[in-house]
Amino acid sequence: MGTNVLAEADLERLETEFRGTVLRPDDPAYESAREVWNGMIDERPAVITRPTGVADVRIAVDVAGDADVPIAVRGGGHGVAGTAVADDSLVVDLSGMASVFVNREEGTVRVQGGATWGDVDHETRPYGLVVPGGVVSTTGVAGLTLGGGYGWTRRKWGLTCDSLRSTEVVTADGDVVTASATEHEDLFWALRGGGGNFGVVTSFEFDAHELGPEVYLCGALYPLDDGEAVLRAWREFAPDAPEAVTVDAVLWSVPAEPTFPEDLHGEPFVGMMGMYAGPVEEGEKALAPMRELATPMLDMSGPMPYVAVQSMLDAEFPNGDRYYWKSHYLPELDDEAIATVVDYARERPSPRSTIPIRSRGGAIADVAPGATAFGERTAPFLLSIDGTWSDPADDEENVEWVQSFWDAMEPHSTGEEYANFAMFDAEAERASFGRNAERLAAVKARYDPQNRFRHNANVRPSAAT
Ligand SMILES: Cc1cc2nc3c(=O)[nH]c(=O)nc-3n(C[C@H](O)[C@H](O)[C@H](O)COP(=O)(O)OP(=O)(O)OC[C@H]3O[C@@H](n4cnc5c(N)ncnc54)[C@H](O)[C@@H]3O)c2cc1C
Repeated sequence: MGTNVLAEADLERLETEFRGTVLRPDDPAYESAREVWNGMIDERPAVITRPTGVADVRIAVDVAGDADVPIAVRGGGHGVAGTAVADDSLVVDLSGMASVFVNREEGTVRVQGGATWGDVDHETRPYGLVVPGGVVSTTGVAGLTLGGGYGWTRRKWGLTCDSLRSTEVVTADGDVVTASATEHEDLFWALRGGGGNFGVVTSFEFDAHELGPEVYLCGALYPLDDGEAVLRAWREFAPDAPEAVTVDAVLWSVPAEPTFPEDLHGEPFVGMMGMYAGPVEEGEKALAPMRELATPMLDMSGPMPYVAVQSMLDAEFPNGDRYYWKSHYLPELDDEAIATVVDYARERPSPRSTIPIRSRGGAIADVAPGATAFGERTAPFLLSIDGTWSDPADDEENVEWVQSFWDAMEPHSTGEEYANFAMFDAEAERASFGRNAERLAAVKARYDPQNRFRHNANVRPSAAT
């Protein structure tokens, strides 16, 4: 299948028919429009389109199809692998489609494909409702949901994709379809974990849940020297805790910011970071054991507005810095694995690199592995290695640290990675979809046989349609 750059006639058609913006490479706004969150990414699309609505999306998909040009889709632009932009592609940048509509009577929320979690939380908060999102408010709803979605309520209400009710999708042939439990069921199955392989999702409809406005936050930081003992206690507690408890272990260094005591800046720690999805008083009791694992160097636990919890980490992951993240699902966390994690935490070349180990179980495991394309439902832990630094001169050292750490943890892994954290080497692509890969390839063959949507954790269409 050839990849042609767009002809002048294609660009003119876009400019004539489009209501939104069309940015060619010589447009002054093109350079900033091709930037994404991860500063390691430097791609030059053939054209960047910014639709104002579904009709524009259809025109863009149609032009790309006629010209045999691959499409890259941008939701929030936070994709770790930076696949929202790609060399010689037609980019559908949905940043102009970011509206959120709350249906109070139904308890549902409709979200356009370019919205961020901050947009969603802002609209749902007045009604005391939440849609389970991620832990950083600037992350896009689309990419996170399509890949699964881990937030602070995951053990109570499952992954983000588990709260999805329906989606509106512009498919590769330009059709607009609704995918839900009763319409295009195969597509709906694939969209819950299969990523951006199946078309442009122009809107998502979610079930919302009642919570807040205040929740209980656990934020107990222990010195890294106590790391092994703390992690051993946490591994016994976290995956079997009450479902309203989501508490992760995070190995990191205290950020050099005014919100933290100056004498602790740069100190490495293992933190118990968690939230209770229920009444504050219950949360304080339920999370108390995580605050008594050793002598904390800092304990920031207490009641906090849910929306503040949702944005408390935003400043640590700014646009344009250097990022290289990978992950492993862990069927258990034995003492040897813990020792490896703590060793690599000590050897981080960048103090900004974080090692979150997310706890699972609860509502995540209540969904059968074949019920959604997101098939890894049983492993109790998700280890993520989040290489984070600023200076391009430090790229090699940091990427090497992530890769070496990831290799060292491979014997402890289920062999699957979280697609939303993968950097998409061939191995990760295979690992991401595990048991559901074959069925995903069949759905792909039905909705995108030409693999027009290939800039993602790509599913190749199966030969038989
Ligand atoms: C700082 C930070 C914090 C994060 N925190 C969490 C977290 O708490 N929990 C979690 O689970 N993940 C988290 N992630 C990972 C996140 O889920 C992925 O990076 C996700 O891809 C971001 O979605 P996006 O729309 O912003 O990305 P984009 O870069 O815009 O898109 C990524 C890919 O998703 C697909 N896509 C995007 N929009 C659409 C659409 N409308 N229709 C079809 N396909 C689309 C495309 O294939 C695209 O290449 C975090 C990432 C970052 C950078």
